[in-house]
Amino acid sequence: MYDVIVVGARCAGAPVAMLLARHGYRTLVVDRAAFPSDTVSTHLIHQAGLARLHAWGLLDRLRETGVPPVRHMGFSNGDLGVEGFADPIEGITEVYCPRRTVLDALLVDAAREAGAEVLERCAVEDVLFSSDGRACGIRARTADGAEHDFRARFVVGADGANSTVAAKVGAEAYGTVPATGFVYYSYFSGLDWDFQNRTRDERQFASCPTHDGLTMLVVMRKRDAYREFRADATVGFQAVIDHVRPELGADLRARGRREEPFRAVRYPDNFYRRSHGPGWALVGDAGYHKDPLTARGITDAFVYGEILADQLHRGLSGAGPIDEAVADYARERDRDSAGSFALTVALSDLTLPPLLAAVVTALSQSPRHLRRFFTMVGGGCSSEEFFDPGNLAELYDAAGTPPAARLLPAGAGVS
Ligand SMILES: Cc1cc2nc3c(=O)[nH]c(=O)nc-3n(C[C@H](O)[C@H](O)[C@H](O)COP(=O)(O)OP(=O)(O)OC[C@H]3O[C@@H](n4cnc5c(N)ncnc54)[C@H](O)[C@@H]3O)c2cc1C
Repeated sequence: MYDVIVVGARCAGAPVAMLLARHGYRTLVVDRAAFPSDTVSTHLIHQAGLARLHAWGLLDRLRETGVPPVRHMGFSNGDLGVEGFADPIEGITEVYCPRRTVLDALLVDAAREAGAEVLERCAVEDVLFSSDGRACGIRARTADGAEHDFRARFVVGADGANSTVAAKVGAEAYGTVPATGFVYYSYFSGLDWDFQNRTRDERQFASCPTHDGLTMLVVMRKRDAYREFRADATVGFQAVIDHVRPELGADLRARGRREEPFRAVRYPDNFYRRSHGPGWALVGDAGYHKDPLTARGITDAFVYGEILADQLHRGLSGAGPIDEAVADYARERDRDSAGSFALTVALSDLTLPPLLAAVVTALSQSPRHLRRFFTMVGGGCSSEEFFDPGNLAELYDAAGTPPAARLLPAGAGVS
């Protein structure tokens, strides 16, 4: 009998298992993958996410893998853009883009070192319930093809956007916003591009240096362009960069060499799922999934995974009823992520909303607000704080923005 079983051992599941094991709980974490294992995801981690790795004693271990630090970011849409970087966030002064083969294996190792049992190549097929309706374990198929039941006081689904645990406990989705885009990405040698996120005419690319001297290049387009794009992805990929930044398109042709196949994905929808119930919780993409455009998935998995682990500790240690503790986690996640979710959904349309266009125009005139903007991107302040009318009024004053151009948020959204 385990205290907790965690299904899924990547950015959300491995840290939850590690933190619980560090508290001394008997923890099992299972994944159908075997690590090191890649997954279809790019891999920028913001300062707020790196701060969690630092708190857990894992940031230096990540640095030692040779992943290059990034201390400059450039965002643009059409001719409007911002360049800069955030203030330190919890002492973190850079971001990293580590390969998931490296990051996820490091997290799994840390969970194992903490004392969690890690079972790889183990596919969960069902959640077990006691007669009073509480989740009390999992039914899973192990590498040898045998079916096993594992029992626990609590089950955590950290098994991604298509979560089996969510389906078996009947966790309904809410706040769903249909996905708009698709992505192709790969790894290139010969380039020295830093972090860039460039959009023009509903075409976008992003770049970031990663392990082994390679640059990760990602191209995003709206779904209506998918059929045409995939007919010749190499041509379509180059065409986006040529269109958005012709000088970088020329550099890619002259010096860039693709070292790995393209990975492609049409995103699932943006959604929240009810993430707590009797004996179970959902964390990471299983409970809260959004377009990868703002690159918040890994950071959020760390931040909210830690909050879930803290609340589980509260419940398991007897400091409070466990289901109420876990409900608090879900409420906190929903409250804290609402602004970031709205911003992500608004940007995923690849068209700059008028409010953001007004703000970006003003930011170039106010270095203090520009740093604050990047601090929001890095997770050091919320989008509600940044887009607060008082903060925007100060920005517009500092920039000398004419009254007619001083747009303010209409309600909670960024429109
Ligand atoms: C194209 C793309 C680009 C992205 N870029 C970024 C980025 O730059 N930065 C960022 O922060 N985020 C990015 N994201 C989002 C990020 O990938 C996710 O938010 C993050 O991986 C969520 O972690 P997770 O642990 O919740 O789920 P996942 O990473 O999906 O892991 C779930 C795990 O559960 C396991 N599993 C699933 N079902 C079962 C089962 N039945 N039995 C056993 N195991 C199971 C899987 O094998 C998997 O290992 C991107 C996503 C995509 C698609």
